[in-house]
Amino acid sequence: EPINTSPGEKIFRELSTELLPSTEVSTYNQGIMEFGALQCTPKNPDCEPCPLNTRCDALRTKRVKDLPVKVKKTKVIELHMSFLVLITGKETVLRKRVGKGVWQNLYEFPSFVGSSSEDSKNDLGLFVSDAGLDVNSLEYVSASYKHLLSHRKIHAQFFVYRVEEIPSLLKRNTVVFEDLLGLPIHRLIEKFISDSPGFFKLDVKS
Ligand code: SF4
Repeated sequence: EPINTSPGEKIFRELSTELLPSTEVSTYNQGIMEFGALQCTPKNPDCEPCPLNTRCDALRTKRVKDLPVKVKKTKVIELHMSFLVLITGKETVLRKRVGKGVWQNLYEFPSFVGSSSEDSKNDLGLFVSDAGLDVNSLEYVSASYKHLLSHRKIHAQFFVYRVEEIPSLLKRNTVVFEDLLGLPIHRLIEKFISDSPGFFKLDVKS
C-alpha cells in the first residue's frame, strides 16, 4: 500500500505505534529521525553498515530503490473564468464547448479563461467592446464560484449584461429562456442559473 494514501497512512501509523517502546519514547523518536536522516535516507540509504540489514525486507527483495511506494499526486491547476451572461427580455447566449478537454460538447455562457481573475476579466472586457456592447448595460456581477475538477480548481464569476438585442457577433448562439435547461449545460452554469433564476424568468428548484 502506498504510504501517502489514507489506507497506507493508517497501516504505517499502526505499525509504528506497535513498535513504540514503553519507556523513553522521545529518545526512541529522536533515534528514528536520525536513522532516517543519516542511515536510511530517502535517496541513498547506506545499507552496508546498517544495523537492520539482516532484517530489512527492502534489501532482501532488492527493492531498496522502490520502497516505500508513493503515489504521484496530480498537480491541480488553478484557473479563473469570467462568464458573459447576455440577457434580453426573453433570450440569452450559450455556446457549445468544442475541442478536447473539460466539459467537452456541453453548453455555457461565453467564457474567458485566464491564470488570474484580472486576465479573464480583461479578456471579457475586450470582447464586450469588440461586440459593441454598452459597458453601462452591466447589471450584475456574481460572487466568485469555486469548482473542483480532478486536475483543476476553477474560480468563476458571472457578468450579467442586459441588452435590447443580442449583438450580431453572437446572434447564432441565441437561446430562448424556455430552452435553457433543455440543453446539456455543465455544472457551473447550472449552479449560476439555479442561484439566479430571475434573470432567465425561470422557476428553478434546486
Ligand atoms: S538495510 Fe534497509 S533499513 Fe538499512 S539502510 Fe538499507 S534500506 Fe534502510
